[in-house]
Amino acid sequence: MPVTTDKTSLIAEADKCVLCGMCAPHCPTYSLAQNENESPRGRLVLGKAFLSGHVEATDTLVEHIDHCLLCRSCESSCPSGVKFGAFMDGLRSHLPHQEPEDDFANILIDQQQRRALNKKLWLGQKSGLLSIGKVVLDSNRKRLLKSLPKVQRFQELDNHYPAQGSELAKVMLFTGCNSELLGNTLVLTAIELLTRLGVSVEIPPTQECCGGLSRHHGDADKANDLELKNISAFAEDNIPILTLASGCGASLLDYRSLKNSGNSAESFASRVTDINHFLLEHLQSIETTFKPLNKKIVVHTPCSMKNVMRQDKAIPTLLKMIPELKVTLLNGQRGCCGAAGTYMYEQAESADALREPILADLATQQADILVTTNIGCSMHIQAGKPKAEILHPIELLAKQLDI
Ligand code: SF4
Ligand code: SF4
Repeated sequence: MPVTTDKTSLIAEADKCVLCGMCAPHCPTYSLAQNENESPRGRLVLGKAFLSGHVEATDTLVEHIDHCLLCRSCESSCPSGVKFGAFMDGLRSHLPHQEPEDDFANILIDQQQRRALNKKLWLGQKSGLLSIGKVVLDSNRKRLLKSLPKVQRFQELDNHYPAQGSELAKVMLFTGCNSELLGNTLVLTAIELLTRLGVSVEIPPTQECCGGLSRHHGDADKANDLELKNISAFAEDNIPILTLASGCGASLLDYRSLKNSGNSAESFASRVTDINHFLLEHLQSIETTFKPLNKKIVVHTPCSMKNVMRQDKAIPTLLKMIPELKVTLLNGQRGCCGAAGTYMYEQAESADALREPILADLATQQADILVTTNIGCSMHIQAGKPKAEILHPIELLAKQLDI
């Protein structure tokens, strides 16, 4: 959410809460701790007391706020319409945070730094040196290294990829900062898939990180700066803006309430759509045949997709177009898999506990593949060593079209 740091507005948002408690059963941290201070209602009360000057930002208060996953399950279950995500982002901008020089969020928002790190990680994995890092680093960084997927070398992209054959549609693609850090094979696969299906793809070269990590870490200025740059990079009207990672998509959708940007933020957000949702609509008007696949696939729905983008229905529907594929949904999710940005490194014990039901369900369902639209979720679930292969839906669709 574009960060509103104005204390009066934040207190007014907290005042919308009627303390009914209907959000509590939907809150993963409350379900783990059974402690009111770890619930949405408890956090609103603590936050308001701090913003009103009635209590100090003690370590305990900051911890209860930091433990929030920002999954926004509470927001989608709140009858009073409390904008919990916006409240937490604004609240965090007033709380003290220790930010080390090499803070991961700072690396991710800087194009030069993330491309440089991509090279180091790629070389490190190839040479085996990263395995030494797993032994000598502190526990947070060890976890980060352990959950890294196979890093691919970043490849420069063109600004324009024409449709193969006649042009049936045109889109702009938001590539996301992770694709420059971990490699952009998925982006290239998406481009190939779209162009093969008659869709021209524009890649605005001045696009930036969506700003989500900065916003959730309380750095309102940095987040708002990135948001304005993206609105300007995707300025062309009426062309859908596709996202591959639902975390980025959710973050871009939130631009609609960005202050001081007039109508441009609203119109930007109205064009943002998940690539699967776009493909489903597009495939209804053209003829395509996928190769059959006799496997069992389980669909994981990230919180950003379920509670913010709300385009999750498209994914199973799309996958069911693949003949013989058995598609089921994941059961037993406590709402969030525990990835939640940097939560999986910073709150390791809770993150692992939240992942447990997912690993158990994958084993029970004897799934061959799990698909998810968010890179953080994919990394965190992969680190739990499930038997199932983990893919983005686009990778599977492309494979079944021989791309
Ligand atoms: S559901 Fe909404 S109004 Fe009720 S306690 Fe939770 S935040 Fe407050
Ligand atoms: S955002 Fe998620 S973890 Fe945070 S209070 Fe709401 S439901 Fe709980």
